Amino acid sequence: MLRLEQVSLDIDGRRLLDNVSLDCPAGSVTALIGPNGAGKSTLLSLMAGDRVPSAGRVLLDDVEPTRLSARELAARRAVMPQDSMLHFAYRVRDVVHMGHALRDLPPDEDEQRVADAMAQVEITDLADRNAMTLSGGEQARTTFARIRVQQTPIVLLDEPTAALDLRHQEQLLQRSAAWARQGHCVVAVMHDLNLAAAHADRLALLENGRLVAEGTPWEVLESQRLETVYRQRVAVMTHPERGCPVVVTAP
Ligand code: ADP
Ligand code: MG
Repeated sequence: MLRLEQVSLDIDGRRLLDNVSLDCPAGSVTALIGPNGAGKSTLLSLMAGDRVPSAGRVLLDDVEPTRLSARELAARRAVMPQDSMLHFAYRVRDVVHMGHALRDLPPDEDEQRVADAMAQVEITDLADRNAMTLSGGEQARTTFARIRVQQTPIVLLDEPTAALDLRHQEQLLQRSAAWARQGHCVVAVMHDLNLAAAHADRLALLENGRLVAEGTPWEVLESQRLETVYRQRVAVMTHPERGCPVVVTAP
């Protein structure tokens, strides 16, 4: 379980996050949504322990991440960054293997996990390619495979589907939801409200560093609220198969 208690963050005299309290339970997918610059990635970086809050506390199973060593952090939480471009000329399979760095698993279990993770995101054929030569979507899937191999109770994804086509968006988010069903705590920054509505159990809506709504997709994706927060007219409909909300823009 991941908990934020009245978390604020000030950088250079600017309040980027203001008194955010949020519980992200194990066994569920929580999507962080909100307009550009609302503070979603910043909030995820606090959850990851990459930044220290100016006030309040972040708790990963009752421990503040900034008190943990790199090895302890790597055992508790995996992070898929917003820009998951790979900057070194490693082979794809070696990048996925890096999920095991700092974990102590038997080597043959390693090999099987790496092969399974690559197969799940359909990058097996790319295994020997230089990771830097992959397309944006292929790189994102490689990073996702790496964090699956890391096998942590907490999984933090920053816009994991931004570079993916429809099939791979659906696949990655179904995998993430299934991961949550197995007891993991999954938190994902999601740009696309419809993907968030379809795949997350809870939505947390940020506006200017403040949490303005939190709840199920139907509770949060209320048209008047979205119009105020996004400054854009919208219509909210019902997904014909899933029964979840669908948000479309209106002129
Ligand atoms: P998003 O919701 O789009 O992910 P971010 O969390 O990246 O937004 O950024 C929230 C706000 O904080 C933005 O206005 C951004 O410009 C600002 N910001 C992010 N990091 C810093 C920083 N290190 N110094 C100053 N401002 C920052
Ligand atoms: Mg962001």
